[in-house]
Amino acid sequence: MPTYYRRKELQQALKRVNIRYENLEVLGNPPSNRDLSNPTKAKETYLDHILLHRARLVRILNYVDSPLVFCLICYCATHDTAKCHRFWLKEFLEEKANEN
Ligand SMILES: [Zn+2]
Repeated sequence: MPTYYRRKELQQALKRVNIRYENLEVLGNPPSNRDLSNPTKAKETYLDHILLHRARLVRILNYVDSPLVFCLICYCATHDTAKCHRFWLKEFLEEKANEN
């Protein structure tokens, strides 16, 4: 975990400016899938993982379909979107949104 990430402090700072912080832990990348030597395989594994948590996916897909402004935050150590699970989630959400 990067030293600059402190969930509680972020949550409190956002609350002061009327932004709600929501932690969707089950949409995180499982520790067993953090070997990114094969990003394509890791992405497949991640997408399989999030599909196991449909209730959370439906919740976030409802955000996509709403006028709500939201952002996905990632604290993984890469700057390469091909290796970032939040980017994979973003792509997944965009694909689902385009299906509607
Ligand atoms: Zn990331």
